[in-house]
Amino acid sequence: MSKLPSPRLTWRDDGSPVSSDFGDIYFSVEDGLAETRHVFLEGNHLPDAWSGAHHFTIGETGFGTGLNFLSTWALWRETAQPHQHLHYVSVEGFPLSKAELARALAKWPELEALSAQLCARYPEPVRGTHLLHLADNVHLTLLEDDALPALRNFSGQIDAWFLDGFSPSANPDMWSSDLFGELARLSHVGTSFATFTVAGAVRRGLADAGFDAQKIKGHGRKREMLAGIFKGGAPHKEMRPWFQIPTPAPSLGSVAVLGAGIAGMSTARALRQHGFEVTLFDAQGIGAGASGNPAGLIMPRLAADESADGRLHAAAYLHTERFLSQRDDPDIFHATGVLQLARTKEEAGRFETISTLAHLPDDHMQFLSPQQVTAQAGLPTKFPALLFPKAGVVYPKPLLEWLIADAEFQIAEIATLTHSDSGWLLLDRDGRRFGPFDQVVLANGTGMTAFNEVAHLPVEPIQGQVSLAPAGALPPLAYALSAGSYAISLPDGRTLFGATYTRTGDALPTEPTRAAHQRNIAALGEGLPFLMAPLTRLDPASLEGRVAYRAQVPDRIPFAGPAPDHAAYLSSYDRLRHGDRFADYPPAPCHAGLFVIGGLGARGFSTSFLLADLLAAEMGGAPLPLGQDLLDAVHPARFIIRALRKNA
Ligand code: SAM
Repeated sequence: MSKLPSPRLTWRDDGSPVSSDFGDIYFSVEDGLAETRHVFLEGNHLPDAWSGAHHFTIGETGFGTGLNFLSTWALWRETAQPHQHLHYVSVEGFPLSKAELARALAKWPELEALSAQLCARYPEPVRGTHLLHLADNVHLTLLEDDALPALRNFSGQIDAWFLDGFSPSANPDMWSSDLFGELARLSHVGTSFATFTVAGAVRRGLADAGFDAQKIKGHGRKREMLAGIFKGGAPHKEMRPWFQIPTPAPSLGSVAVLGAGIAGMSTARALRQHGFEVTLFDAQGIGAGASGNPAGLIMPRLAADESADGRLHAAAYLHTERFLSQRDDPDIFHATGVLQLARTKEEAGRFETISTLAHLPDDHMQFLSPQQVTAQAGLPTKFPALLFPKAGVVYPKPLLEWLIADAEFQIAEIATLTHSDSGWLLLDRDGRRFGPFDQVVLANGTGMTAFNEVAHLPVEPIQGQVSLAPAGALPPLAYALSAGSYAISLPDGRTLFGATYTRTGDALPTEPTRAAHQRNIAALGEGLPFLMAPLTRLDPASLEGRVAYRAQVPDRIPFAGPAPDHAAYLSSYDRLRHGDRFADYPPAPCHAGLFVIGGLGARGFSTSFLLADLLAAEMGGAPLPLGQDLLDAVHPARFIIRALRKNA
């Protein structure tokens, strides 16, 4: 289940929250801010510790009200240079709701400007990883889950720890030796830590995990606290070395991104935000492929189980919705709400299961009975529906123009990539050379497998034709509709609907056909019978349309990550053919500095932004915005590993 336990709070007269579950306070009322500064900031030698670092990462156990986070941000704002980035990773198993967070933070007027920004972006609680990009190059990663599984599932390297679970006597789970083992796994030699407690068990547990824990002067009436650094611990055995992400180069450099569709553009944006120097290449121009339709849907593709596929889509959708709603431009993203209508009894049952699994917070999904659909959307239907009230319609052209901003862009059809000590050289069809670049990202959809390095990826082009009904031909729709195919009322009165799903083999025709329009009409009428009458009046010969090719992989889960060296994988992990999971395997052999993002199918607009942030984090050494289970699910080497396991 994705629902997390809500904290049971009582509120003191002075406005501060107390946990009834743990019988402890979130912060001290008289001087919580001063205590935070003394214990966690000074205890970790901040701001000195982050001075000069391009990226600095703090890990916290217990996000609570976000007071520690906001005091850190305030100090960062005063002391960091414009090119520096702060990553703040915080675990929370009982997240406050947005309203509770705002109420608790109202106690600190000096943090008002920052708490307003945090509250605006703070997600309603749901299990998983939530990455929030805030001002001042501050990136908050909330790991919403019980602390131990959350840390076990997390990948990143922490420079300073704030250990702030409730008191060890009230909450031993936050101070267990297993948890300290995870802190050690995520630390490097010299990672600092600080905590308010001096409990003997905590001191011993930290020492056993490899931390040098010293008692130092505590805040106010508290005589002592603990602080120290990680000296190194027992080496960590990698359970799935084939999915390990290569250690990034210490300095950020130049990156070539191939493909100016949504995958490439969102990757270029994420890399630039991270501090990389990016050049974008495309043979035809911006949004020439599948990302060039007049409109698209941003909505989650949920599963009626706990599979990685459905959880990835839920996480990606929430991330995208946060990113696009922050931009607040209805010409780019219009949160019309999307109504997904069941077409059969079986589908109705699946929708009901999906709504109970709660992969999305309540304010993002409602299960509507047929009567509610009719009352709310004015649509007659026999079956229930899922309403995604914050989902909606994206307009690719202005979106891509916004994403490219002033990035370096080259129209060139890159034909070969060559790697040498100086980096990657790119050669185009006309013999022009570009580079060298330190790293390359292939984001060119179905064209990717033309490069030898990634020819093994099982990417298949699937033709999709959309149809456009003239203004007035179909009734205006209150919500964007999805029922097998989709229908969107465009601002100019036309209706966009479709799309076909056709394998065309090696021929990749791009002219819309009358037969495909006819198929779109039939499919929409089947999914949305109330549109049947106006649909039958449409003349397929008079419809406009557009044909593009989606890149699809057999498991339908997109991929993003380092490009595996196929031959080296086969020889390194040959023993997997014999079911030997625990042989002494070498680290993942990937092409140095080569990354891929693709297989986005029909949902590129909903999944690209999270995958792009993942790539930027992998390439730049930042905390990864996906848990290990989902990282494995999107890893480009999964196809090779699966084939080895099947001894195929
Ligand atoms: N750092 C917070 C702040 O600035 O407001 C205060 C943290 S409060 C003292 C401790 C937090 O740890 C609470 O928010 C609580 O819900 C969380 N917590 C307690 N046990 C947990 C567990 N097992 N897993 C994850 N979080 C837990």
